[in-house]
Amino acid sequence: MFFLRRRLFKGGYDFRSLEGGDYGDLIERTELPDKVIIPLKQGFSAETDCLVVKGERVRAGQIIGRDDHTWSSPVHASINGVVEHFETFIEGNEAHYGVVIRRDHSDERGYVPLPGAGSADKSPDEIGDLLYLAGVTALGPSGIPSSHHTSDLDLKDVKFLVVNGLSGEPFSLPQEKLLYGREKEFMTGLQLIMRLLRLEDNVHIVLKKGLNKCLNTESLPGGVKLHFTQNRYPFDMAEIVTEIATGLPVPDGGTPSETGSVVVTIQDVIHAYEAVVLGKPLIERVLAVGGPAVVKPRLMKVPVGTPMDWLLAGNLKDSIEARILVGGGMRGEPVESIGHPVERNFLAISILEENRDREFLSFLTPGFSLLSTSRVYLSNFFIRLTRHAETNLQGERRPCIYCSYCEDLCPRGLVPHLYSRQVRYGFAEEALKFGIEACIECGLCSFACPSKLPLLEDIKEGKSLIEESGQWSHHIGLKKLEEEGKL
Ligand code: SF4
Ligand code: SF4
Repeated sequence: MFFLRRRLFKGGYDFRSLEGGDYGDLIERTELPDKVIIPLKQGFSAETDCLVVKGERVRAGQIIGRDDHTWSSPVHASINGVVEHFETFIEGNEAHYGVVIRRDHSDERGYVPLPGAGSADKSPDEIGDLLYLAGVTALGPSGIPSSHHTSDLDLKDVKFLVVNGLSGEPFSLPQEKLLYGREKEFMTGLQLIMRLLRLEDNVHIVLKKGLNKCLNTESLPGGVKLHFTQNRYPFDMAEIVTEIATGLPVPDGGTPSETGSVVVTIQDVIHAYEAVVLGKPLIERVLAVGGPAVVKPRLMKVPVGTPMDWLLAGNLKDSIEARILVGGGMRGEPVESIGHPVERNFLAISILEENRDREFLSFLTPGFSLLSTSRVYLSNFFIRLTRHAETNLQGERRPCIYCSYCEDLCPRGLVPHLYSRQVRYGFAEEALKFGIEACIECGLCSFACPSKLPLLEDIKEGKSLIEESGQWSHHIGLKKLEEEGKL
């Protein structure tokens, strides 16, 4: 079934022609690393109980972390080897634990198959069990519901399935490239997830405009609608893609699961196929590794747990101080250490050049290649020229000049400059009257601001202050489950 729908959302930005963002079509399957670090918590999952001890021999695909009593999905060894030691690493503000496995060079590409897998002819409960055992249920912003504790959305409350094929964020994984040559696997994976969720319609696939030939619409299962939309950032954020697909707005400060939507990516659907039909646990992931600080932007299929320093070896530009982000160039989180492992839900690693220089009267610089939405740089007039993203603010913070670029770009139609002032002058709670809670934290306002005001930082601070005052709560997902005493 073919369904073409165009929705124009306010704002958004087309990050085209970025240096380090041209991936080509090839997905390289890397060699196996000599060691992997398997975090016991990955994706939408609480930390699992460690099932292995130091010195134990493990095989790729073996479950090494599992806890059936918490909202979690099992984690697996991704290579054959020996448990060398356990490691603590910092993610956000939390300490996480990882199992370090040293490769033993035996049966290199094999894996322990999932019991009972082997065909697509499975009941909904069997599919749920297999996706749980494979760790696939930890994917998506709120996990994939099953009869195990895998999502904050109950199976009975699922109304929509949304497959997000957009990639508007700088350096993010071009999802459609995973479809090339794997269309049948995608279709089977989609049917399996639909059967698990008991959905015969209300299934949506959102792709960027111009990809009409990417999927054979004749072979789409009934009840599936295709949407083509602009690939502008942040339309690829789960909150917005859900609205594009279902027409239902995600509640302010909430997640798509609050509209009854399960959101997955094209890659997640292929993982579902691999788990049920091939019996393959989620031990490998395709990542985009790009940004102006890499020698060559690459699409790489890597074992989960691969340390980033191994992955990036030889591909970082010399004599550049790099900032490594997990995720795309707008919302990616900087890693504490270059040895941080790849996790099963990662989609991209973006590497920017760290630039601490202050430029005198930078706003007068013509800047043919610098990235900006304002009229400060000439690059804005020549969008086909390759543009350069880096960490420098390109100048000093200056007063707000009421240019309204931040408003123009905001996909939620908000007033970022107002919130920033309210927070900085001690009236954060006033921002609640003007809709601050609707902010999805895409960061476009900060990016657009020619005065380089830290608008997103101010908004985040404002939200925390409002939350502390008890006037609003945006505790969702795992945090909500924790508060309800379910973890
Ligand atoms: S960070 Fe929030 S306020 Fe800023 S553009 Fe995005 S949604 Fe709008
Ligand atoms: S973009 Fe910056 S300078 Fe312009 S109105 Fe917004 S906060 Fe003020």
